[in-house]
Amino acid sequence: MAGPASTSPHGRDGSPSGASTVFRRGTVLTMDDARRVLQDADVLVTGDRITAVGERLAVPEGTTEIDADGGIVMPGMIDTHRHMWQTAMRGYGADWTLTQYFVWYYLEHGREFRPEDVYAGNMLSAMESLEAGVTTTVDWSHGLQSVDHAEAAVDGLAAVPGRFVLAYGNIQAGPWEWTALPEVQAFLRRLRDAADDMLGVQMAFDVTGDPSFPEKAAFEVARELGLPVSTHAGVWGATNDAGIRLMHENGFMTPETVYVHAATLSADSYQRIAATGGSISVSTESEQSAGQGYPPTWQVRRHNIPVSLSMDTSVWWSGDLFSAMRSTLGADRSREHLEAHAKGATVTHTHLRAEQVVEWATRGGARAIGRDDLGSVEVGKKADLILIKNDDSPVGFPLLNPYGHVVFQAQRGDVHTVLVDGRIVKHEHRLIGTDLTRAKAAVGATVDYLRSTMGEDSWRSGMNPELPEADEVLDNPYTYTDYKSATTRTARGTVFGEPTPKG
Ligand SMILES: [Zn+2]
Repeated sequence: MAGPASTSPHGRDGSPSGASTVFRRGTVLTMDDARRVLQDADVLVTGDRITAVGERLAVPEGTTEIDADGGIVMPGMIDTHRHMWQTAMRGYGADWTLTQYFVWYYLEHGREFRPEDVYAGNMLSAMESLEAGVTTTVDWSHGLQSVDHAEAAVDGLAAVPGRFVLAYGNIQAGPWEWTALPEVQAFLRRLRDAADDMLGVQMAFDVTGDPSFPEKAAFEVARELGLPVSTHAGVWGATNDAGIRLMHENGFMTPETVYVHAATLSADSYQRIAATGGSISVSTESEQSAGQGYPPTWQVRRHNIPVSLSMDTSVWWSGDLFSAMRSTLGADRSREHLEAHAKGATVTHTHLRAEQVVEWATRGGARAIGRDDLGSVEVGKKADLILIKNDDSPVGFPLLNPYGHVVFQAQRGDVHTVLVDGRIVKHEHRLIGTDLTRAKAAVGATVDYLRSTMGEDSWRSGMNPELPEADEVLDNPYTYTDYKSATTRTARGTVFGEPTPKG
């Protein structure tokens, strides 16, 4: 649906035409098995593939040259779990817990979304992915109340030249209900058989742990259709070990299964996941503030379970995998220190390294979605690549520790160029082939609609959850009486006001 980009190497039908692009003289994080980091190296792309990696490559006439000197070339990042439709209400839930989210979603605005609203949110979220160097995004689309909603979700993704996976879900009905619908199964079959490697398909639903295991019927549909299942597992107060045990005992845990969060599971559940080869999608920004449980990498790496990273939802947090890498590394190290302190010990060498979170954001994601042809810079792989480079920024140099630079120094504004399937979709910090004006208009209409449907009071109270009782400020023997009396308390916490007379 998007107009073809003028600099796209794709033909009129959108397929790669054999045009080529070369990145020159960059620092290349190959993310290959040997984790080679190449200095002053070129990467040549021909059509949709990486065709050469090395120094001073000879390239065909007419090749587009991109100066990567001073920058980092790495695989495009992969987000394995994002509720993209919710981006239409970006940032609205910044102060929520899961409780407010469920009210919003099950009872209020979430259920009001029409197909055009899903379309608007998906389109905006898809653009955001490319802008931030995320070349593949799994759209964990659990707002598909009808097949019309599903068609709209796909249209929103197709309007943007990125790579996506539609994880089909509908939280307004039981998984055993919506997966039984002939029209849903027909839609899933059609998507599966389209054999378009720009759009994959999964099924997305949760397992409550109800001993009668009603979700069994949904797993059977997934098995019959040959589709992977992604499931929120190990979410405090919602899904737990019982769900994992039911899945395992019924033979539904496979290497393709993706367990999202997996933050409140026992060692027994982690062992079942490890033994069946599935992977965990960690959404640290989400887990840290919504309350699913502590971001679990510090535990799951001890079980050697593959990990990928995800952003969950922009109705709350960012869609920024730089932030995911940074917060995941921080959460893991924070826990490692705290666990040691509790035993009176000191951590002198951290276990989790910057390199590992870059791996999770790239190869980890590729593995989770079963795409061997993504996630590394190697000859023969798909040309989903990003260049991180910002000559106008004081943060661009010195470039001493490339993994550390990606994780703790770079940010999405530093993504200079993005290629998806060999096509240049962002260059010199600007998106190409995406119609942001159209997305703005569509999202604007959705916001107007939702705001008027639920009413202004509901809109405002949904965005600003009530504060619990303010914490008592502890008495402090070291403060002067005058300073104590200068402290005034308000409903929103403690602030320092004008000094008041003593007494
Ligand atoms: Zn989620």
